[in-house]
Amino acid sequence: MNDTAPRDAREPLLAARDLVKTYGRSDALRGASAELRAGEVLAVTGASGSGKSTLLHCLAGIVRPDGGSVTYDGQRLDGLPEARLSELRRTDFGVVFQFGQLIPELTVLDNVALPLLLAGTARARARQRAGEWLERFGVRGRGDLRPGEMSGGQAQRAALARALVTGPRVVFADEPTGALDSLAGEQVMTALVHTAREAGTAVLLITHDAQVAAYADRELSLRDGAVVTGAAVTTGVTW
Ligand code: ADP
Ligand code: MG
Repeated sequence: MNDTAPRDAREPLLAARDLVKTYGRSDALRGASAELRAGEVLAVTGASGSGKSTLLHCLAGIVRPDGGSVTYDGQRLDGLPEARLSELRRTDFGVVFQFGQLIPELTVLDNVALPLLLAGTARARARQRAGEWLERFGVRGRGDLRPGEMSGGQAQRAALARALVTGPRVVFADEPTGALDSLAGEQVMTALVHTAREAGTAVLLITHDAQVAAYADRELSLRDGAVVTGAAVTTGVTW
C-alpha cells in the first residue's frame, strides 16, 4: 500500500487541464479538463467517440496529450520519461478495461499475483495476497481456473482484484461492466466501489450507463472531446 498523503488535501490528486489530443483528422480531446480527489469515485460519461477513453489514457499516463497538462500528486506527468511513467503506473495506478484482459495462459490466481511479482514481492506471498483479493471479490475458489473457464462477471471481478492488489491510489476503469448482463454488472460495480471506498482508492470510471454512474460521487460528461455539464459548456469549445 502506498501511504504517502497528497501534498495538500485540498489539491486534487490527479488533474487534467485543457487536454488536446488529435489522431489524424480526429480531435479526440479538444480542451478537456478533469480533477480527481484522493478517494473519490468519478464517473465519466458521454456518447461513443466523445473522448472518454482518450481522457482516461492521458490521465493514466498511457497516452501523451498534444496539449494541456496532467498533474499527479503535485508532479507533471505529461513530460515524464516513459520509464518513470511505467514505474508510476505499476506502483500507483490500477487499470480495468471492458474485457478484463487477463492473460489467458495463466491461472486466475497467477494473473492477480502478477503485478505483485513485477513489484518484487516473493512468489508465495504474492500468491497468498492474490488469493485474499480474489476472496474479497467473491471468486477465491476459482483461482486455479484459466480466465476462459470463468463467466464474464467472474473474470471482471478477478480483473478488479488484479487492479487493486498492489494498493494503488487510483484505479482507472474503462466501461468495466460494458460486456456484462445487468446482474453481473451490478455485482462488479458494487465490488469495485465498495472495495475502493474501503481502501481509500480513487476511481475514474467510464460508463455509458446512468445506473452505473449513480455509484459515483460525481459525474463528468464529455461531448466532442470537451467537458459539458448538462447543456452548459465548461470549456472554451462551442458548437
Ligand atoms: P470514447 O471512449 O468516448 O468512445 P475515444 O476516446 O475512444 O472515445 O475516441 C475519441 C475519438 O478519437 C474517436 O473519434 C476515435 O475514433 C478517435 N480515436 C481514439 N483513439 C484513437 C486511436 N488510437 N487512433 C485513431 N483514432 C482514435
Ligand atoms: Mg472508450
